[in-house]
Amino acid sequence: MARECIFCRIAKGEAPAYKVYEDEVSLVFLDIFPVEKGHLLVTSREHYEAVHNAPPRVVAHVFTVAAALAKIYRDILGAPGVNIVTNSGRAAGQEVFHFHVHVIPRWRGGGWRRLVERHVLTEEEAREVLGMLKPHIGIVRKALIDAGLVGGE
Ligand code: AMP
Ligand code: ZN
Repeated sequence: MARECIFCRIAKGEAPAYKVYEDEVSLVFLDIFPVEKGHLLVTSREHYEAVHNAPPRVVAHVFTVAAALAKIYRDILGAPGVNIVTNSGRAAGQEVFHFHVHVIPRWRGGGWRRLVERHVLTEEEAREVLGMLKPHIGIVRKALIDAGLVGGE
């Protein structure tokens, strides 16, 4: 839809991203300015400005993917904490006006108040994160099937 929207361009393959997972409804890629290593963005394929105007089935799908990614970080990769955050509106800190949910593993702690310090994602860090997640990514599809959001094979 919105031609100039960076997340639409990523969804169409017109702009680069380190993709972690994708399906009919959602797309997950690495945030280029991570709060901590493994900071992910779960986006809808379709363009909606924010969570409040995405259809409930899309919200359910995107949050189910986010929760499954949090499960991988917590239960398998040993992250002591994970933040799942969505910003709706400039006043809430939204900068990209295409619905997305942040999944931020917290290796060092700091709680939700420490969400503003960022670093620049390097190619090396991106490869490491993709390598960490890849063996476990089937958990995402399984969660969607369990939730009845996609059909089983
Ligand atoms: P928000 O404040 O929730 O709108 O967050 C937008 C997020 O998108 C920020 O964390 C940015 O670092 C991230 N971001 C912006 N452009 C890109 C991009 N091209 N690829 C990956 N992440 C991006
Ligand atoms: Zn868009």
